Amino acid sequence: MSWSKRISPSVNAIAPSGIRRFFDIAAEMEDVISLGVGEPDFITPWHIRESCVYGLEQGYTAYTANRGLLELREEIVRLLLRDHQVSYDPKKEVLITVGVSEALDLALRTVVSPGDEVLIPEPCYVSYKACVTLAGGNPIGVPTSIENEFRITVEDLEKHLTPKTKVLLIGYPNNPTGAVMTKEGLLEIAKFAEAHDLIVISDEIYSNLVYGDAVHTCFSALPNMQDRTILLNGFSKSYAMTGWRIGYALANPEFISAMTKIHQYTMLCAPITAQIAAVEALRHGESNMKKMVAEYDRRRHLILDGMRNMGLECFEPKGAFYIFPCIKNTGLSSEEFAEQLLRSERVALVPGNAFGESGEGFVRCSYATSVSKISEALNRIENFVKKHIR
Ligand code: PLP
Repeated sequence: MSWSKRISPSVNAIAPSGIRRFFDIAAEMEDVISLGVGEPDFITPWHIRESCVYGLEQGYTAYTANRGLLELREEIVRLLLRDHQVSYDPKKEVLITVGVSEALDLALRTVVSPGDEVLIPEPCYVSYKACVTLAGGNPIGVPTSIENEFRITVEDLEKHLTPKTKVLLIGYPNNPTGAVMTKEGLLEIAKFAEAHDLIVISDEIYSNLVYGDAVHTCFSALPNMQDRTILLNGFSKSYAMTGWRIGYALANPEFISAMTKIHQYTMLCAPITAQIAAVEALRHGESNMKKMVAEYDRRRHLILDGMRNMGLECFEPKGAFYIFPCIKNTGLSSEEFAEQLLRSERVALVPGNAFGESGEGFVRCSYATSVSKISEALNRIENFVKKHIR
């Protein structure tokens, strides 16, 4: 008997990850340089790890409140007020989650009813569409383009608006493009959300990773947006804490109560060890975080110059740790480029179509790896590109 027919339709409806296949090929090979993974190459700073060790020594091994440690919620709220002048109640408007991943899933399951449409600027993080589908909604990709530096505009969104549109899901700084929205651009999006009474889920996990003259604008700090926004953030990228699995959501008390209702039955709470470490990250982690950001910025310049010098069109990413060069002048599709590069030059990157159709013709490279590896990867990519460029 085949069990696959008994798997629920919503799970069957999810497309397999376009990234996995390349990791599987790379795993069989030797001497591969990976620009594929979206994960800091730094170890979590010692003072953060030490706070966790100390917590364990003190016997902090139990569940916390469903919403998370109050002192962590207070630290999150304090920093948002300091950095973005937006004020939340730590007791009613914050939920600590198992990474932004859980917060995203909870937010969507809380506000999406069957058949609701969720607008998602594309190219987008691979989990967005899958989580919308699992929540019973329809993900509607809204293409952005290199001409517009992959920023979303109201004109783009209007083309995809229908009476079923209920939610706008945005993620800036963006994975995979590195795009950062300007405040003016987001103000237009905010007016659009208000005019059409949309709930906005804003994934700001890369908020601390912005470079040059770019500034991160917190969506819920925009006029009239706090009440209709579910703001998501976490520790994975800013503090090199991917394996700790810790993030959070901020929203109006009704949304947070509803999300907590799901969370209390599915997770109970985020791990106490990670919550203790997160308090330390927010209290004393800023200077280490800034050092990591400065190092990403150095690598960003190196990889941007390298890509452009070998003849690939490349928009300057202003945030996150990804670069999204256009490979159309090689005559190869994104998947052909990624697979042939991997097999012939042993460099792993991700084909742009893994992030939606509008990613076709591009590849995503992560520069969360050492300068020496980036330099060697650039040499290898150039070897490959030279043979194909037209
Ligand atoms: N959101 C975006 C845009 C991401 O790129 C990632 C991870 O790559 C996540 C969310 C998941 O983050 P977390 O580790 O906090 O679950």
